[in-house]
Amino acid sequence: MGEFIKGRQTADVITLEVKKGVEDLKTQNVKPKLMIVRVGERVDDLSYEKAAIKRMKSCDIGCEVTVLPGDVSQDDFIGILKAVNGDSTVHGILLFRPLPEQIDENTVKHIISPEKDIDCFNPANVAKIAEGDKTGFAPCTPTAAMEILKHNSIQLRGKKAVIIGRSLVVGKPMALLLLEEDATVTICHSKTAELAKVASEADILVAAIGRARMITEDFVKEGAVVIDVGINMDEEGNLCGDVDTERCKDKSSYITPVPAGVGSVTTAVLAKHVLKACQLIKFAQEQTI
Ligand code: NDP
Repeated sequence: MGEFIKGRQTADVITLEVKKGVEDLKTQNVKPKLMIVRVGERVDDLSYEKAAIKRMKSCDIGCEVTVLPGDVSQDDFIGILKAVNGDSTVHGILLFRPLPEQIDENTVKHIISPEKDIDCFNPANVAKIAEGDKTGFAPCTPTAAMEILKHNSIQLRGKKAVIIGRSLVVGKPMALLLLEEDATVTICHSKTAELAKVASEADILVAAIGRARMITEDFVKEGAVVIDVGINMDEEGNLCGDVDTERCKDKSSYITPVPAGVGSVTTAVLAKHVLKACQLIKFAQEQTI
């Protein structure tokens, strides 16, 4: 019978570490600050925003939200994002995505400077994760999944990891982070042949698909660790993951639930990234004095 690994404990440990870091900066008259940039009123964004504000408050990190109308023009969007990026009191910027269709991500993705890009929008940070450069920022969600694995002392070195999903926000960075920890990684997607067979060879199975309860026991190796990143609504309107937890829990050794799994660690990672951004910016400023 698999053990549920909830995210709460991991989130609490990270939050405590962040609080200590923030207190330390306070003694040097520096206060980390997050700026959230939201375009429109998407329900998912509003719910994440609420959780992020609460977490920043609990860590004593400053937090503001810049809200733009859903029909904002690309030129106006660029002007405001540049102004936010140029604000020296802001250390980390979280921009909710996807952006509305009138804004071309390829045109705007370089505006947030890499050192403030705490959720990995700028390709410079994607490159840093690929290089294993610790000054970079991986997206908060796959980092949260890694924190859960680390906190629960799940061995990764030499293990077979299979990730289902290849988005830039979750699947691909998750693969790079697992590779960095010496796992042997396979990335699957909608064109993967014999998906269940490939998945069932994994010691660590990560589902980042966006399909409610698609992963059943056929995808799970006996004793595998199953990390469910998915956030979906089922036909009854209930929140659920990509994994059919009821059907998979007996075969797995550990399994993360949805809700209360990976999602509950994401804002703690966000806070950790704001602190890190602030520390790195401060360090860089000290070097130039
Ligand atoms: P995307 O839609 O960008 O990517 C989904 C991936 O799943 C794609 O690579 C796609 O393949 C693959 N896929 C879709 N259908 C299948 C299928 N039938 N078989 C195999 N692969 C399939 O989603 P995201 O990466 O942004 O998000 C993934 C999930 O994670 C979603 O449920 C999302 O809500 C959740 N999420 C959770 C967060 C959290 O904090 N917990 C934060 C961000 C996302 P292909 O590339 O071939 O199309």
